[in-house]
Amino acid sequence: MTAICTSILDLFKIGPGPSSSHTIGPMKAGRDFLDFVRELPPSKRSTVTSVKVHLYGSLSATGDGHGTDKAVAAGLLGYAPETVPQDFMENLFESPADEQLLPLQDVRVPLRPDDIIFDEVSHSFPYNNTLIIKAHAQDGVVAERTYYSQGGGFISYEGEPEPELGDPAYPYSNMHELKDILREKDMRLHEVILANEAAVHGRSTEQTFAHVDHIMDVMIDAVERGLRTEGVLPGCIGLQRKAPELLRRSGLARHEQDRFLMLLNAYAMGVAEENAAGHKVVTAPTSGSCGVIPSVVYAMLNLLDIGRQSVREGFLAAAAVGFLVKHNASIAGAEVGCQGEIGTASSMAAAMLSYAHGYRFQVTENAAEIALEHHLGLTCDPVGGYVQIPCIERNAMGVVKAYNAYLMATLGNPSAQVIDLDKTIWVMNQTGRDMNAKYKETSLGGLAVRMPRC
Ligand code: SF4
Repeated sequence: MTAICTSILDLFKIGPGPSSSHTIGPMKAGRDFLDFVRELPPSKRSTVTSVKVHLYGSLSATGDGHGTDKAVAAGLLGYAPETVPQDFMENLFESPADEQLLPLQDVRVPLRPDDIIFDEVSHSFPYNNTLIIKAHAQDGVVAERTYYSQGGGFISYEGEPEPELGDPAYPYSNMHELKDILREKDMRLHEVILANEAAVHGRSTEQTFAHVDHIMDVMIDAVERGLRTEGVLPGCIGLQRKAPELLRRSGLARHEQDRFLMLLNAYAMGVAEENAAGHKVVTAPTSGSCGVIPSVVYAMLNLLDIGRQSVREGFLAAAAVGFLVKHNASIAGAEVGCQGEIGTASSMAAAMLSYAHGYRFQVTENAAEIALEHHLGLTCDPVGGYVQIPCIERNAMGVVKAYNAYLMATLGNPSAQVIDLDKTIWVMNQTGRDMNAKYKETSLGGLAVRMPRC
């Protein structure tokens, strides 16, 4: 199997909610297609009269509630996830007659709401979340790309050339190989991640830690915004935000243990509520599961007195788990259900807690394994197609399970753990592939049909 070459920056992307596969990925696809059209020969580009986007699979089934149409339009209009103004998408396509112009200097190409087409839910493309973007001229299509949104904001397009990357300093494709490296080279887990980040992506240790700091700062900002923002979330469910109330109640808790749990919940739900509102979050590893890791980061810095450098190193251990799941299974709810989103986030958070507390790789692996094992089979059935029910509370459950997995992993002889992380990732992937499509971000089963609010 090929070695893992994913970067920290690829896994943890900054962008608007509510969904990495349905918002950030399509926006990146739209932006890529704009650049593709800009690079056409002028004689060809000048013939373009319209651009049409076809959404397939769960992008079609739940793209309306996830804001996929506005996200891909924002990309076509020149915006990128990290820099798009918060209110831009809120105000885009307010009416069916709304018309925007693609930022092309030599040709006038309008973009209207009905240029984004919610196409077939069932299809035969290799990835569930597929979108095809076409530039039309009077006499036919002059440019076309088929994009796959693979979860976590990762996109690729059909026929895309392989990126030019360096070779990893320490190649591994699964946890077993990674542990062999750690033992044979007598290295620590975060050192391997840093060395590969340098070899594959040309980033020094200082640059990687600066990126980690920036990502953690965006996470912390999202926690604090979520804790102070009251009100009702967008969409037809009319769901009330809960994080500020949880924070207030935590101050009245009768037991210190209750207070700690309430704060973990408040941090995770605050970020998930910000995501549901379409505000800036970090994919960790996805937008739907973006509250779990920030809750752990915030708790370690503010409640558990863990130093910033230990948190940074724990962050790299979390990244290693995310890389392993993405490489050997999937982090997309549309591919494997919510076990790939909240399950992976909880597994990463459990690894982070263990490593930042000073435990070495075996306890770290065991914590990640326990957290993932107890999310196996978790389905994805967002009510109304919104990333709200069950997603917001699921982030809180994911962080509490992560903490419990960390505690359990620190008991007894860590080498006596019966199930290893590779096996659980394999089972998660297989379970996801066997899962009925109704439970993979289509809103066609589960809670979404028992309580159809919209
Ligand atoms: S149920 Fe889970 S996988 Fe599905 S949208 Fe919500 S957070 Fe994502």
